[in-house]
Amino acid sequence: MSATESAPAPQRVAIVGAGMVGLATAWFLQERGVEVTVLDRTGVAAGASWGNAGWLTPGITTPLPEPAVLRYGLRAVLSPSSPVYVPPRADPRLLRFLAGFTRHSTAAKWRTAMRAYIPMNRRAFEAFDALGAGGVAAMTHEAKSFIAAYRTEAERSVLLDELAHIHAAGQEIEFDVLTGAEAREVEPSLSENIGAAIRLHGQRFINPGEYVHSLAGSVRARGASLVTGADVVDVRDEGTGVRVVTSAGADERYDAVVLATGTWLGELGRRFGVRTVVQAGRGYSFSVKMEHVPSGPVYFPAQRVACTPLGDRLRVAGMMEFRSAEAPLDRRRILAIAEAARPLLRGADLDGRVDEWVGSRPCTPDGLPLIGATRSSRVFAAGGHGMWGITLGPLTGSLLAEEMTTGRRPTELQPFNPLR
Ligand SMILES: Cc1cc2nc3c(=O)[nH]c(=O)nc-3n(C[C@H](O)[C@H](O)[C@H](O)COP(=O)(O)OP(=O)(O)OC[C@H]3O[C@@H](n4cnc5c(N)ncnc54)[C@H](O)[C@@H]3O)c2cc1C
Repeated sequence: MSATESAPAPQRVAIVGAGMVGLATAWFLQERGVEVTVLDRTGVAAGASWGNAGWLTPGITTPLPEPAVLRYGLRAVLSPSSPVYVPPRADPRLLRFLAGFTRHSTAAKWRTAMRAYIPMNRRAFEAFDALGAGGVAAMTHEAKSFIAAYRTEAERSVLLDELAHIHAAGQEIEFDVLTGAEAREVEPSLSENIGAAIRLHGQRFINPGEYVHSLAGSVRARGASLVTGADVVDVRDEGTGVRVVTSAGADERYDAVVLATGTWLGELGRRFGVRTVVQAGRGYSFSVKMEHVPSGPVYFPAQRVACTPLGDRLRVAGMMEFRSAEAPLDRRRILAIAEAARPLLRGADLDGRVDEWVGSRPCTPDGLPLIGATRSSRVFAAGGHGMWGITLGPLTGSLLAEEMTTGRRPTELQPFNPLR
């Protein structure tokens, strides 16, 4: 059946992938009376949805390809301590991704992609609030302070320019410009080396691992089966239903299936016409004890280091490594993040790191996610959110559930056709 002939509203749906996007889709499908089964080859939050920075920041949710990334230059990206890394010998898929990414890193393409994000950003919190009101116990936290901190005013001008572009594109974001001393007053964990800052307003954050497990608990409590250790190796549209086959030989029939497999979206999506490369943009994180835990996220944009309070610890995250999702954790990157943060934070036990982690942002060359029906009207894609799958995961689930059960595509999803 083609995507243009719509199948009747599905009653039994399999969701492949138990990250933020898959579980949010499951939850919102349940809200519409659909019976769901969630399958993950490893477990809940086994992919990027665990060790990320947990920022819910629609005010700065923007497309990754932008002119500044190109200005960064090739020399920087080849160094293992640089915040953006590309291995010197890239495979053909990675080269295809990089060529597409470069083509999209223009001011005009950025503006077009930004226009696609804005309607999503406006509604991002609404979806989290629906989850909270519907019984997901984990909280979202208002960022009482959200500080982007710099050594110098010159460094700060990059984000001020970006905020001006974001504003000009129609995205609302309120902020104050602070001196280093003013920033330290708000956030005493900033060191004396901080000479300039920006304070963003109206954003939130979560402990992502805890949140996604809580979401999984709610999906389960509402009657779903959540099958872990289920590696889906084949999905077949048989006209009147779709078969989902795992490597262990389980073979179940559903009315529809959602591929929410993060950075691995292409593996099952390609045969249904999803040709956009989804490339792992690997990031690293760890958490440390602090003399004073910040009351909200702290961002060091020049070093591309993102920090988030998680209870009595601070998660420190960074790096964008374009290489295989399966490559082992590279300790040099962890050390590079710790060394980049060391002069900028005060009272951080950067040598007492725990929970060292690597995970893969599912990045697309045009910086836009892939959400909606594929060539099969029974097989849906939900992924490719790159840096923003936590912020936009719940709304993605809500809008996709609407599309699947009504047959009408919400206008917010129009730019994210997975067959583009
Ligand atoms: C360092 C870092 C910091 C980040 N910070 C933020 C942030 O602050 N805010 C934000 O919004 N986003 C952030 N992100 C991005 C965010 O983490 C991702 O966009 C998001 O987690 C993607 O969610 P997902 O559900 O699409 O994929 P994932 O969480 O990767 O889930 C995919 C799941 O699919 C499963 N799977 C794959 N293939 C199969 C198969 N064949 N069969 C069965 N299961 C399969 C995997 O096991 C995995 O559990 C960050 C990412 C990183 C790396």
